[in-house]
Amino acid sequence: MIIYCNAKVPVTLLPETFSKACGSEAFLFDPAVTCDIGVSGDRILAVALPGEGELQGKRVDLGGRMVFPGFVDAHTHIDKAYSWNRAPNRSCDFLEAGKRFEADKSLWNEDDLYLRGNFSLRCAWAHGTVAMRTHLDASDQVSDMVFSVYNRLRAEWAGRISLQAVALTRIDFFTEPSEDGRRRAERLVDRGAEYIGAMPIMNPDLDQQLDRLMALAKDLGLGLDLHVDENNDPSAECLRRTAQAVLRNEFPYPVACGHCSSLALQEPDRQRETLALVKSAGIKVISLPMCNLFLQDRKFNGSEREGGTTSTSTPLWRGVTLYHEMLERGITLACASDNVRDAYFAYGDYDMFETYVQSLRIGQLESRLAQSPQLVTSTPAEIMNLRDFGTVEPRKRAELVVFPGRSFNELLSRPFTPRQLISGEEFRQAELPDFSELG
Ligand SMILES: [Zn+2]
Repeated sequence: MIIYCNAKVPVTLLPETFSKACGSEAFLFDPAVTCDIGVSGDRILAVALPGEGELQGKRVDLGGRMVFPGFVDAHTHIDKAYSWNRAPNRSCDFLEAGKRFEADKSLWNEDDLYLRGNFSLRCAWAHGTVAMRTHLDASDQVSDMVFSVYNRLRAEWAGRISLQAVALTRIDFFTEPSEDGRRRAERLVDRGAEYIGAMPIMNPDLDQQLDRLMALAKDLGLGLDLHVDENNDPSAECLRRTAQAVLRNEFPYPVACGHCSSLALQEPDRQRETLALVKSAGIKVISLPMCNLFLQDRKFNGSEREGGTTSTSTPLWRGVTLYHEMLERGITLACASDNVRDAYFAYGDYDMFETYVQSLRIGQLESRLAQSPQLVTSTPAEIMNLRDFGTVEPRKRAELVVFPGRSFNELLSRPFTPRQLISGEEFRQAELPDFSELG
């Protein structure tokens, strides 16, 4: 056994008994506990306060540095990623992003999808991510090759990054006409889709569309992972309507909703009602803060909106959903990467620590510092139903990320310093791939 000693771990990611070690004023600013982590093979065997356990083995001193479990990224798009150079979004607007992306699809083939997908996973792995859920384009035009490449990548990355796939398309693709929709969904499930995805939009048939989608998912025994309300229109209430549909249909499988941005711009009474519905429907919310910050609250003058230049005035809204209000109510909330270097988000590198730092700053989560690391570790692991990842506890996989900082303040003050990665009984090396590999 190897004992990684003097590891400073966020207390909410340790076994519950460690919370007794906390309670002082200092804990408010640094909610982490120094402990020893015993590892055998690829598993954590024990976690103990220094000197309190009976851990025997070779000791490796981590010097009181901050340690997180491997990151879990619950919402990505590895089929779209790294296409920015050939399909840039000149206005950086949501509508143009969709058009650029559709045009770029004509360039997709298996080699291109493999190159960009594998590059995505190499970046994520080098940054310390151990599990990812990706939405994949399920349209008839590309789904065969997209899922074929996904299955190849999933097999090649087994044991390093656990992958899950969501079949993403328009909501009516699966529901109208119902026979075709069912056949399409079954085919995608055969090819590896584990969740049905869609982007519901406000329209007079929305309730019926959601009912039909849930009836299909119920028949197939699948959960849903939807993109909802990624806009600044307060009347966009797909989250609310999805929650009502879950309750109306007594939908028994997990439902995740990504974005939920417009909720933040609604009247407080309306927000409270919707949050109550989301809570009672058990919907899990996945915020995509970097994509929201990039696309939301851009302002345009007339013809400049599409294909034009950049925004013409300063954004005032951060674009994210109601972090504090959700956490306050015990609504499951995770943060994830979403798009990376494509028309929906020009930047990013599948670095979940960047996602964590940005979430904390955008959401001003200092008052919930103890909970904050859960957004990118234990909560997405819960959403993805992964029992092996997300915390530093006995029986979990010993995938750890070691930072130079020795406290939350040091950690967050130098977010871009190199980190060390532990896989089982060894420090593992993982180089970021060179950009030139993308051509
Ligand atoms: Zn997305």
